[in-house]
Amino acid sequence: RLKNVGFIGLGNMGSRMATNLLKSGFRVSVHDMNGVAAKQFVDRGVLVKETPMEIAEASDVVITMLPSSTHVMDVYMGPNGLLHSSSALQPWLFIDSSTIDPLTSRKISLSVSGCALKEKLDCQEKPFMLDAPVSGGILAAEAGSLTFMVGGSEEAYLAAESLFLSMGRDSIYCGGAGNGSVAKICNNLAMAISMIGVSEALAVGQSLGVTASTLSRIFNCSTARCWSSDTYNPVPGVMDGVPSSRDYQGGFASKLMAKDLDIAAASANEAAIKHPLTCQAQDIFHKLCNEGNEAKDFSCVFRHYYGGKDE
Ligand code: NAD
Repeated sequence: RLKNVGFIGLGNMGSRMATNLLKSGFRVSVHDMNGVAAKQFVDRGVLVKETPMEIAEASDVVITMLPSSTHVMDVYMGPNGLLHSSSALQPWLFIDSSTIDPLTSRKISLSVSGCALKEKLDCQEKPFMLDAPVSGGILAAEAGSLTFMVGGSEEAYLAAESLFLSMGRDSIYCGGAGNGSVAKICNNLAMAISMIGVSEALAVGQSLGVTASTLSRIFNCSTARCWSSDTYNPVPGVMDGVPSSRDYQGGFASKLMAKDLDIAAASANEAAIKHPLTCQAQDIFHKLCNEGNEAKDFSCVFRHYYGGKDE
């Protein structure tokens, strides 16, 4: 039931995830609206389809890895979308690994469960939908060491585990539809705020006369230690091999973090939970994007404390 896998969205993450599925022996067909992204797969002899609908017609399972909620809605519900021939669908499972808002995940899950499964028309079995966003950036996508956080039917999650383990090292089941998206948004919210916190502390300390390297060494063996200080330090020159050491090239784009914070703020509003730090983080990342840092790694938030100038 997992033999033919359709993959839509061959960008920074998706191209690497699809490649790992191919390496694991799955029969993969792909689609991307951008011909250049699809071309690298044509060149490797992979079946490339023109529309999401054609992907659905050829697949047992479809995986999507797209930028945002509107793109995912479009690919599922659009005129040539995955659910276009919704009278009876070929795939028994849809997995969306994009980072999108939990409400959209739940809406799509409802639409999928409203469709019939072509193979099982007589017994009225329904296709499944899992929201399965990932943690780990481009390097983890390439190495096949992503972590998946999965919402939806547990039965479908267990049946799809070998797919997750072909693209990642871990998968964590989070409960019903949309819960994977909730987990991902909360993870990125905490990560954004910790990155801002470390940047602010290092900027203040540096201005008061202690170097960022010394401060980071202290944080890393003290109570301020966190991923933003010891693994992904935002100050140029403190660590090798991280985006801050290469002018914030590569990594996780600030515009994606701004999008995730928009979703976090909207979700917190929806839940009527106070979220003052989310709002501050949202403002800071949108300002950074407006100042031309859209494509730079999100750790360039350190620049916020120097008005975009070199430190
Ligand atoms: P990307 O922009 O590099 O790739 C997205 C791809 O989707 C592009 O190739 C684009 O052409 C394609 N696409 C867009 N709309 C389409 C449509 N309607 N039909 C077909 N193809 C379409 O994005 P990415 O960096 O690969 O990120 C994808 C998702 O993963 C995002 O939701 C992001 O937040 C999340 N994510 C990214 C990272 C990271 O480090 N880049 C890490 C974790 C999660």
